Amino acid sequence: MDKTLFEKIIDREIPAEIVFEDDYVIAFNDIDPKAPIHILIVPKKVIRSINDIGENDKDLIGKMFLVARNLAKEKGIDKSGFRTIFNTNDDGGQTVYHLHLHLIGGRQMNWPPG
Ligand code: AMP
Repeated sequence: MDKTLFEKIIDREIPAEIVFEDDYVIAFNDIDPKAPIHILIVPKKVIRSINDIGENDKDLIGKMFLVARNLAKEKGIDKSGFRTIFNTNDDGGQTVYHLHLHLIGGRQMNWPPG
């Protein structure tokens, strides 16, 4: 099967501004940021969307949120606030089918989302 866009970033086949990496997760700046801080937190394991998360992935998903928490603190938006989002399939606005958690902050967010 073809590599996902984010696997190509993990494998250094296309460039990205990587802000965190360990054996399980990579995080990099979104190429088209929707706010001053917009980071994508991506599991190295290919999971297409929330619909494809398995029981065995519970630790991995938890780790993604810990990375988001740490990056929010590192970027100085933990106190002001931020938003974490998984988009799923067409109605959810998903465009890359490799699970990713958006960490967005540095400005006031609107609710409801568009
Ligand atoms: P989603 O629409 O939730 O699937 O999010 C996909 C995100 O990936 C979008 O916010 C895009 O701007 C972002 N994106 C697409 N290509 C790249 C890339 N090469 N490097 C970093 N972010 C990307």
